[in-house]
Amino acid sequence: MLTRHTYSADETRALAERLGHRLRAGDVLCLRGDLGAGKTTWTQGLARGLGVPEGDPVNSPTFMLLAEHRTGRVPLFHFDVYRLDNSGGLYDLAFDEYLDGDGVIVIEWADRIADALPDDRLDIALVPDSMDSRTITFTPHGARARQLLEALTP
Ligand code: ADP
Ligand code: MG
Repeated sequence: MLTRHTYSADETRALAERLGHRLRAGDVLCLRGDLGAGKTTWTQGLARGLGVPEGDPVNSPTFMLLAEHRTGRVPLFHFDVYRLDNSGGLYDLAFDEYLDGDGVIVIEWADRIADALPDDRLDIALVPDSMDSRTITFTPHGARARQLLEALTP
């Protein structure tokens, strides 16, 4: 487990960008945290690290469960499963095919589909401490996720 503190949205993006540089197809990041915690902000930095250009912006997919960004070094599949009560609705999304696919997977509200998450993954929890500061806790599951954490260790 690793904990980091950020003091602005840009600092959160910069931290995520460092991780983004290292990501490759098959990596799965599971984001937890309440509304406004910074999950989408984190994903924006991650996309930057993957080389997704500004013209393909990452935002809250309010009415979508999945946004695909294929403009970077590796495809980014950005799930937001806020509207799912459980993992049942994932079947319609062909979630398993994405897991086996050729991209990086980021899931906002991953705790809602806990039973559908792969064993190998990096869990990331964001907790607001004040208006502009966040405590971000990383819990790796599996060797690959532990390796990824090295990107965040100074
Ligand atoms: P979520 O996707 O978890 O609902 P968002 O990323 O959409 O959250 O929103 C987070 C909000 O908090 C944004 O308006 C962002 O600018 C703001 N914010 C302030 N400080 C931080 C920080 N340190 N890290 C991330 N976001 C922050
Ligand atoms: Mg969001």
